[in-house]
Formats: sequence, C-alpha cells, structure tokens
Amino acid sequence: MLNFLNALIQLTSTTMAWRCTGKSNKELISNMATAGIFKSDQVANVDRANYVRHATHFAFSKIHPHPEANLIPEQSGMPQQSARRTWSVPLQSQLPIPLTPPPSQHAYATEHLLPYLRPGARVLDVGSGSGYLCAVLHHLVGPTGKVVGIEHIPELVDWSVDNLKKDGLGKALEDGSIVVVAGDGRKGPYDAIHVGAAAPTLPNELVEQLACPGRMFIPVGTYSQYIQHVDKDANGKVTHKEVMGVSYVPLTDQEKQRGV
Ligand code: SAH
Repeated sequence: MLNFLNALIQLTSTTMAWRCTGKSNKELISNMATAGIFKSDQVANVDRANYVRHATHFAFSKIHPHPEANLIPEQSGMPQQSARRTWSVPLQSQLPIPLTPPPSQHAYATEHLLPYLRPGARVLDVGSGSGYLCAVLHHLVGPTGKVVGIEHIPELVDWSVDNLKKDGLGKALEDGSIVVVAGDGRKGPYDAIHVGAAAPTLPNELVEQLACPGRMFIPVGTYSQYIQHVDKDANGKVTHKEVMGVSYVPLTDQEKQRGV
C-alpha cells in the first residue's frame, strides 16, 4: 500500500519539484519524507497497482524508462522488474493513455490542497485519467465529501471506473461520493480543484468554479511550466502564487491527444 502522509510543504517560489524513487514502498515513503514532501500524519492508503496498466509489450519502457518506474509497492505482488513495466504505455492498446504520473506529482498536489480537503469537502479533479487521485482525494474528504473527476477521453473514464471498483470503491461510485464524467461535467463550487494536465494559461472557467474560500492546484505553461495556487478567499478575492517548476502533459483537445 502506498501511504500518503500529507502535510503542507515549504517550497521556494519556483523550485523544481523533487522526484523520489524507492525500491520498496517503505523506501519510497522514507525518501519522500526526507525530501520534505510528507510531514503530517494524515494518511490515505491507496494501492497504485489498481491504477496502472499491466502492459504486455515492453519496448517503450526500454526506450523511455519512467524516472520513477520502480515505485509500485512490492506488497502488490509484483516483482520490481514487472512493476517497472507497468508504467509503460501499452503499445498494443490504441488508447491515448499518458504515463500514470509519478507518486511525487500526486503527493505534491495532495499536500498543496490539504487545507481544503477537510471531511465533507467537494473536490474537482480535472484530467482524472486512471482515477488514482480521485481515490486519494476520496479518502481525505471522506464519505460525506464529493470528488468529481473529469476526463476527456471516454475510454479512460471507463478504465478509471474499473480501477476504482477493483480498489473496493464501487460503493463510493454508487452513492455519488466519487463521480467520474467524460468531458465537461462540472458543477461547482468546489473547495479544492486539482488539474492534472498543464494549461497554457490559467482557465477562467475553472477559477469561477472555486468556492469562497477555495484553492486550485494547477500546472500552467507550455515548455516552461509551474504549479500555480489560485486561492479564493471568503469574500471572493482571488490571489495567485507560483509554487514550483514542473513538467506535466498538456491540457488539450481530445482530437489533438489522439493525434487526429
Ligand atoms: N491524474 C491522472 C492523470 C493525469 S495525466 C492520474 O493520476 O491518472 C493528464 C490527464 O488529463 C490525461 O488523462 C488526459 O487525457 C487528461 N486531459 C487532458 N486535457 C484534458 C481536458 N481538456 N479535459 C479533460 N481531461 C483532459
């Protein structure tokens, strides 16, 4: 099980995000703690193995091994070698599935949104992909909260629903505490918004979906990207802060992502 020990982290304004690796879950957690990613004792247990593709074609991984490929916990029953392979895009599949983001990316996002992820909070996850972060967020906001994942590739929506069910979250899907929708199914306001792909510029439509108070964690930029905190205070005043340099896949059009 991958433990997310959530805490606010101190980062200088444009520091590049740390990347952590570990040969086992224990080592990963320890390295993330050393890097300052985890500080508090809030924990969301989510087994990543339910949210990665078990590719049967490994050529891609030989060319582009993922920098954090060796992170799937050994407890998941996968030897490290095959865990590495599960991070690769399955070439036999025609799905435009990006690499599942590294644990540190998910961890940073969760850490930065943590003050707004109280029990009962409503959270929007834009570009929800595998559904992994929806699960993490669900554990943090609890059964009285609501996590809405929006993903523009319908096949990924189906896949994420399967993953969430595999992870024992079928009931949360049934009772609506987790909702995954294809395309644009937003209904704010949301206390916390996570955007999992980089927008070239800050999308105003999403700022409008933020509650008062609320926070959005969003990667912004093209070649040079940074995480922006967009905070709305109780009076609706919006402030922005660049917190670190990052590298995300683009927030884009479905056709562009599919290459058509
Ligand atoms: N956080 C996810 C994946 C992030 S990768 C996970 O943990 O698995 C970025 C995701 O954003 C991809 O799945 C991509 O299909 C999706 N995406 C890109 N542009 C989008 C858009 N305009 N609307 C919705 N989803 C989008």
